[in-house]
Amino acid sequence: MTNMRNFMNGDDFFRFVRDENKPPVRCEYCGRLLYYVYPVVGGRQSSAGFYETCDCEGVKQREVEEERKYIEELQQKAKLARVEKLLSQSNLGRRFRERTFENFRFELNPEAYRVALDYAQNFEVYAHKGQGLIFTGSFGVGKTHLAAAIANYLIIHKSVPVVFGSVSFLLGELKRAYELEAISADRIEKQLCTVDLLVIDDLGKEKPTEWLVEKLYFIINNRYEDYRPVVITTNLTLDEIEQRLNVAGSLAGSAIVSRLVEMCRIVPMHGQDFRLSLRKNAC
Ligand SMILES: [Zn+2]
Repeated sequence: MTNMRNFMNGDDFFRFVRDENKPPVRCEYCGRLLYYVYPVVGGRQSSAGFYETCDCEGVKQREVEEERKYIEELQQKAKLARVEKLLSQSNLGRRFRERTFENFRFELNPEAYRVALDYAQNFEVYAHKGQGLIFTGSFGVGKTHLAAAIANYLIIHKSVPVVFGSVSFLLGELKRAYELEAISADRIEKQLCTVDLLVIDDLGKEKPTEWLVEKLYFIINNRYEDYRPVVITTNLTLDEIEQRLNVAGSLAGSAIVSRLVEMCRIVPMHGQDFRLSLRKNAC
């Protein structure tokens, strides 16, 4: 350190000394020479040195840009974390997460595809009116695929919370929580009533017990009153759903269907069962 000289005069408590053995570097923006320095605090020189940083406009701008990028990255990470959280809350298992508009077999049902895509892209407009969709048609025409594609699109592109599942799955979870008198029962019920979009897959497939039908009516009616949309898939006609859900002489099924008709646009889907046709082609 013999070649080191004090470049700051006076008896400052805190100052820097240059290391003359290390060649200076130039600021890439203004060309100023930047020296390797050691801090000296109260006369004691630190053994850890560093190159001076320039404070010209070029460096300031770079710092602003780096700060902007850093914030952008944080936001991107936060968005990914939010999407991940929304996906796990949605109950869309891996099987349904992979069903998107991109991999729907468009030629199966171009009209239903257009309706579903438009619904997802303009969800705010439809949600404001509490308007949903009912995909009807026989087994294997892609109803569930389109409903899952809407759910995935809303979560990934719009960060909209969605809950997806069959009646027996969604209400089964609620029933178990009730039976265990778990605190989660209220939370699950509230979520089914208030989530931005509730997707009920395969309505009519469940075993219609009195409890289940009453609960389903409670949820649908709550959503109806608060303008919160539902998307439904079913193999049955609305009449069949009504008959099936009118259990033990109650008219809950009629009430559910009448609400759904007011809330939803019906999207009939026709066509060959593509799973069957795949199997046939394979033979
Ligand atoms: Zn500079």
